[in-house]
Amino acid sequence: MDFTISEKMRVILDMVNEFVDRELIPLEPAFLSRPMSEIAPIIMEKQKKVKQMELWGPCYPKELGGMGLNLMEHALVSEALGRTPLGHFVFWCQAPDVGNIELLEMFGNAEQKTTYLHPLVKGDIRSCFSMTEVNLAGSNPLLMDTTAVKEGDDYVINGQKWYTTSADGAQFAIVMAKTNPEAGPYLQASMIIVPCDTPGFNLVRNIPVMGHSGEGYFSHGEILYQNCRVPQTNLIGQEGQGFALAQERLGPGRIHHCMRWIGICNRAFDLLCARANERVITPDGRTLATRQIIQAWIAECAAEIQAARLMVLHAAWRIQNEGAKAAREEISMIKFKVANVMQQVIDTALQVHGGLGMTDDTILAFFFRHERAARIYDGADEVHKVSLAKQILKRYQ
Ligand SMILES: Cc1cc2nc3c(=O)[nH]c(=O)nc-3n(C[C@H](O)[C@H](O)[C@H](O)COP(=O)(O)OP(=O)(O)OC[C@H]3O[C@@H](n4cnc5c(N)ncnc54)[C@H](O)[C@@H]3O)c2cc1C
Repeated sequence: MDFTISEKMRVILDMVNEFVDRELIPLEPAFLSRPMSEIAPIIMEKQKKVKQMELWGPCYPKELGGMGLNLMEHALVSEALGRTPLGHFVFWCQAPDVGNIELLEMFGNAEQKTTYLHPLVKGDIRSCFSMTEVNLAGSNPLLMDTTAVKEGDDYVINGQKWYTTSADGAQFAIVMAKTNPEAGPYLQASMIIVPCDTPGFNLVRNIPVMGHSGEGYFSHGEILYQNCRVPQTNLIGQEGQGFALAQERLGPGRIHHCMRWIGICNRAFDLLCARANERVITPDGRTLATRQIIQAWIAECAAEIQAARLMVLHAAWRIQNEGAKAAREEISMIKFKVANVMQQVIDTALQVHGGLGMTDDTILAFFFRHERAARIYDGADEVHKVSLAKQILKRYQ
């Protein structure tokens, strides 16, 4: 296998890494301590710079205004951007918008592309994805109470969703709702575009997650759809295609997440090693780095990160060359493996920082709070493990 990074990608990665180091990491103290409304103008300035440098939307096709990188190339960019929580948002390849963009690009009709896709790719608007329900197990998407009933030329949507990430300030949601309750289980739901200013779209609250409600892009909304009426032309693809589209949306999305998590691992690891070298723990000036237990942690983290990284790159290679279906096992494997490696690396880095690690004076506590969710969203660990094991066991029947 050839691990060479092309000259083009080397240049791009150097530019991205330099931007992250010079422009974004210094913004983190303000990001951690000030309201989003205060730092939003600074973030917009950074986004402008990214556009000027022609690094905007790395994974979107050039015709749409992106850089046109393929999945393997974008994986490397995602790793570089993941080193800061601001990276993906400033370069405009952040979830959930990236998934919605891919979905609309593949399945949106011409009008949906003009009204929603093009402004979204440009960064003029934001979006959200509303599937998980408050009262039903999200791990089994077949369990769904939200309905979209036809009335005249419209759908009337009723239901209660939560964890609609970034709903606060979004211009539209892509909502999963049952349109065909009489059909077979996987053909009952559809995806429908709902502008967030539609009467009956009620953002009830930004859910407090690990003690923080967040704001704007960095938030998770609870939404009550109450007789929310949208034209039937807002349907994406065909009626009953909702689950099939959700699968399309999630495959490459898991590569984006996993490489972002590797970026987080790299950052936490850098902080861990720097702290170990610097922190004096004896009167004669010995540092934490002189202790074998810390050395073992460093070696173990390095090996785990490297293994996880190669797994993700291999999965990306397989998706790119053979399609998401062929890479099903690899996708499940990386989803739980990388989430757990990340959690372990962040935890170790935090431990090495002692009391400092618990504060917001480093980025570690933010990562610790926010990235715990990686083992839950886009399929909880257990769901992926069960699915992977079933596929493996089939080979032994
Ligand atoms: C930070 C964050 C962001 C999110 N963003 C979005 C979003 O933008 N849009 C959206 O629609 N949703 C979003 N979600 C929701 C997410 O997809 C769900 O939380 C997830 O699907 C799990 O559903 P649940 O929370 O209902 O847990 P449940 O389904 O109740 O599962 C609870 C636990 O049970 C175990 N479990 C479940 N099923 C099985 C099984 N078959 N075998 C063994 N164990 C099992 C797992 O340990 C699981 O963690 C987000 C969630 C989080 C935490």
